[in-house]
Amino acid sequence: MPSGLVDFHCHLDLYPDHVAAIKQCEADGVFTLAVTTTPKAWARNHELAAPTRHVRAALGLHPQLVGDRAHEIALWEELLPHTRYVGEVGLDAGPRFYQSFEKQKAVFARVLALCAEAGDKILTVHSVRATKIVLDMIEQHMPPEQGRVVLHWFTGTPSEAKRAVDLGCYFSINAEMLIGEKRRALVENLPRERLLTETDGPFTRTGGRPARPSDVLLVVDELARMHGFALREAEAMILGNLKTLLSSG
Ligand code: MN
Repeated sequence: MPSGLVDFHCHLDLYPDHVAAIKQCEADGVFTLAVTTTPKAWARNHELAAPTRHVRAALGLHPQLVGDRAHEIALWEELLPHTRYVGEVGLDAGPRFYQSFEKQKAVFARVLALCAEAGDKILTVHSVRATKIVLDMIEQHMPPEQGRVVLHWFTGTPSEAKRAVDLGCYFSINAEMLIGEKRRALVENLPRERLLTETDGPFTRTGGRPARPSDVLLVVDELARMHGFALREAEAMILGNLKTLLSSG
């Protein structure tokens, strides 16, 4: 198993055995950002991740949960000083969640403003059917020198991708984003120095089962082919990008 892979967006606490999922990241040497969907889940994630070499926990309030849990922004705010990593946060304008979209915008504006005020936070951001407004809000609330945004599972247009690059955003690429000509072309045109990898496990599948962090190897392999790199070079590029991201700010 190669070591030094990066899974910058994975829901480790949603696997059947959370502790075992973390141990596997350590055993495989996969640098994994364990995102949370509610701030109530952060303490346990942080407790388990903090002593590890490869896993860190991010403080989230998922846009798909904001309809019922907008009040949890208070707990999110209380915990923010204790972590550099924030997510999963963002906006979801898909049909199932559109009803809460105004609430989502209020929560996300608060998240961005507080992160910018605190400085040096790194956010993993969801933007389903809401790329333009997510970018508008990043532009309004989060200047690049006050924090870093990683767009998770980006599905915007080429011009939105360019705008995101200009706003200082990174992109975490998963296997689903490499299926089909149009999606691949979009990924291929992103600046290499802004690329990270992710699984969004357990919500994506590899070989008929929920993806695990080490499955990002498949994404790295695809990125290597896309750019004419050896696998090792592509691995080193992604790890280098992670190091640059973590040392910025
Ligand atoms: Mn996710």
